[in-house]
Amino acid sequence: MKTCPSCGSHRVVRSETKDWEIFIGDVKIVYDKVEDHCQDCDDRGDFGAENDGRIEKAIKKAGLVKLLCPECEVSMYAELVGWIERTFFKGKEFRFNACAYRCTMCDELFDTAETMDRSLAAARAALKEDQ
Ligand SMILES: [Zn+2]
Ligand SMILES: [Zn+2]
Repeated sequence: MKTCPSCGSHRVVRSETKDWEIFIGDVKIVYDKVEDHCQDCDDRGDFGAENDGRIEKAIKKAGLVKLLCPECEVSMYAELVGWIERTFFKGKEFRFNACAYRCTMCDELFDTAETMDRSLAAARAALKEDQ
């Protein structure tokens, strides 16, 4: 049973709003929002902190990860983005799938050890295929 943080009442009615939208930077996150409503003092809120876990799950589902953004200089949510990179090697054009993380706050693209490895592996595979 939930307790109202304002008056200590147990007469709390829980409701859910489907597909509630919030924004992490410029990325839309959708989750089912919980709201508790105290029947005695009319206070409303997430008394059991249920939304925190739901938001965390929705963020994960959206593919966002917390990374240190070199531009913001703090930990920010970033999403993995990919594109076709064109490069020239010995006068020939090669294309491969490159990737990097994009900061949802400042839009900065930056690499991590993981994205560097992935891009490098893709570039190597493209060169190899040609031989
Ligand atoms: Zn209350
Ligand atoms: Zn940033």
